[in-house]
Amino acid sequence: MPVVDSHAHIWGEGFLPRAFFRRAAERWAAKSDERTPDMILPRLLAGVEDQNGDDFVENMNRAGVDRSFIMMIDVGEPVFGEEPPVSIDQQIEFYGALQKRHKGRLHCHVSVDFRRSNYLEALKRGVRDHGLAGIGELTPDGFAADGESVRPMFKLAAELGVPVQIHTRAGVWTDFAGADYSEKNPVHPIHVARLAKEIPDLKIVLCHAGFPHWWQVAAEAVADLPNCVLDVSNWNEQLESDPGNLIARLATWRSLVGSERILFASDQASGKRFTGDRSDLGRWVAFFRDLPANAEKWGYRFRAEEAEQMLGANALSFYNLS
Ligand SMILES: [Zn+2]
Repeated sequence: MPVVDSHAHIWGEGFLPRAFFRRAAERWAAKSDERTPDMILPRLLAGVEDQNGDDFVENMNRAGVDRSFIMMIDVGEPVFGEEPPVSIDQQIEFYGALQKRHKGRLHCHVSVDFRRSNYLEALKRGVRDHGLAGIGELTPDGFAADGESVRPMFKLAAELGVPVQIHTRAGVWTDFAGADYSEKNPVHPIHVARLAKEIPDLKIVLCHAGFPHWWQVAAEAVADLPNCVLDVSNWNEQLESDPGNLIARLATWRSLVGSERILFASDQASGKRFTGDRSDLGRWVAFFRDLPANAEKWGYRFRAEEAEQMLGANALSFYNLS
């Protein structure tokens, strides 16, 4: 059975504006008098790049992952007040070429901020001309998924017949876990559920399944919305510290949405800073593969077919791939 990672990122050189990492650099610099943001920024920017995806695919091979769904994110002017050196149009070309170079291994997505003029045209070009597999990752920052401003984008996705991937982790960008757990936070899964109700033809991935605080509400909110699936990326953070808890969560998700609507995902990033020995992708795959054997000691049962579905078959059928 194929192993499919439904959520990962590859960045080319110059895809991220410096402003993207500025907050993170400032936070780290504040920890020591000898560090300044300018010392840290170049290292942050350089560590994530992979110009052709070869290094990323090598990392998949080591982990036993057959296919990965690669996200694009528009983190330019509309969100960070600064354009990246490489334009959004060029980035779309990059993901088209990446998908061709690694045919059958990488399925890339297109993402263009709705505040850009002609963004719908650019999204259409990505899907129609470059054959990109979906729209995403969309990070609700300055909008909510159920807002009127982004409705045309979701109508377009439904029309084109491609899934959208929407971030539902409480923290956004370089803030991992977030602080506002109320529904006022635009990344709260409730907004995605409302959107899913409005457009039942739209296929939606709830990226990160509400990590860390909304894990249950994410599944409850979409339980009776069959156009939505959960992706388990970022939960690998608790792989070492709390495997029993992870198994309990998976079992709860299964009873709320069914194992056929849970997708294996990692949020694996490209670049030397994240791949090779620094990547836990192989251990994350093994956790799912060994689920039938390991769940029992925590009081749960998973069948081998359920593990296989989550590890790959679900993503392929959701994307109409075989
Ligand atoms: Zn995300």
